[in-house]
Amino acid sequence: MRKKINPRKNKPIKLTDRGIYENLTGPVETNQFGLQMGVEALYLKGCGVYMDLERAITELQMKFDNLMKQNFPLSGLNTFGTGGSARLYAEVKTAEGLAAVVKEAASLKVPFFMLGGGSNVLISDRGYEGLIIKNAIKGFEVQGDYIMCGAGEDLQDLIDFATEQGLTGLEFASGIYGTVGGAIYGNAGAYGSEIRNVMVSADLVDREGNIRTEENGYFEFNYRTSKLKQTHEFVTRARFALKKGDKKAIKSKVEEIIAIRKEKLPLDKPSAGCFFKNIPDKTQEFGKLSAGKLLEQVGAKEASCGRAAVFNRHANILINNGSATSSEIRRLSQELKKRVKVKFGIDLQEEVILLGEFEEDNISSDI
Ligand SMILES: Cc1cc2nc3c(=O)[nH]c(=O)nc-3n(C[C@H](O)[C@H](O)[C@H](O)COP(=O)(O)OP(=O)(O)OC[C@H]3O[C@@H](n4cnc5c(N)ncnc54)[C@H](O)[C@@H]3O)c2cc1C
Repeated sequence: MRKKINPRKNKPIKLTDRGIYENLTGPVETNQFGLQMGVEALYLKGCGVYMDLERAITELQMKFDNLMKQNFPLSGLNTFGTGGSARLYAEVKTAEGLAAVVKEAASLKVPFFMLGGGSNVLISDRGYEGLIIKNAIKGFEVQGDYIMCGAGEDLQDLIDFATEQGLTGLEFASGIYGTVGGAIYGNAGAYGSEIRNVMVSADLVDREGNIRTEENGYFEFNYRTSKLKQTHEFVTRARFALKKGDKKAIKSKVEEIIAIRKEKLPLDKPSAGCFFKNIPDKTQEFGKLSAGKLLEQVGAKEASCGRAAVFNRHANILINNGSATSSEIRRLSQELKKRVKVKFGIDLQEEVILLGEFEEDNISSDI
């Protein structure tokens, strides 16, 4: 029997990936150890369920034999450069291909997760017991002052393309890592603007494999979030409304922003940008209380855990200082969270998405 129990604490391990929560829902129960279990209970319950997942994974792999890779390493596919392997991995290049895979995985109850540029995720060292779908849907099309763009395109490539066309409006996002789809999912933003201000509509694939177009309002964009976090639909392409501008001026703005980012960000160290969200607060400038400022006041910049550390110029950026593990990064983040809670009574929320299984908090005093 496959037990997912943390041997040190005898506590159930948290299952944090959305695939499992999405696919399985059930009442809270008690297992043979007398531990309370939630939806993850269905995987802990015993051999029967585990075998079902194994069987489902095998079936999915056989159905898409040419597409699926097994035990695929994920450390090269995220900007922390950490994490284990995906049980199954598929790169999709078309909306129809994505729809077919998603529909089948959902009906077989195989957990799945879409990866864009991997610049806003922390992947467990244990990897992911399901299917990782890498979005490789590409392509640009100019339609007057609009650009239609494949969601698997790098955001920076979209900005460069718009610059070449003499179309202005996307400069604010210069230097933000990741894909267009990832930027829509998290309403990426910087320098006073966000994706919601330029995206007009996007095509989505839902869990039943349906493809449809939705307008901006559907996405309920907010600070670093969109409705996609609840619906778990995937973006395949999006349309952006831009304006005609001076090519030279656009280019120089893009370069200016990239130069500023190079100064401020640890571009030579693997990271995922800001680890925690700023806290909404109307009394503060831009309506947000900076998580970085709070972290600075709890000595974050001097904190480290193994090879995971905090960037010395920005207390909200955790870096992989060599060969850090995801577990070290996670433990460091939990310690910082704890310190902010103790000093300010504020619960920081992760901006970075945790994928896979992480142990319950186990903070050592060396941090
Ligand atoms: C050095 C550095 C600086 C950064 N600075 C900023 C910044 O200034 N502003 C900012 O907003 N962010 C910043 N980030 C964070 C990150 O770049 C953004 O959040 C980015 O938009 C994530 O895109 P991604 O493709 O890498 O998404 P991933 O990390 O691959 O995935 C993130 C989430 O998006 C979902 N997703 C990905 N593609 C799709 C899709 N097609 N459809 C639906 N869901 C999808 C994934 O399932 C996942 O839940 C920074 C990161 C780094 C490393």
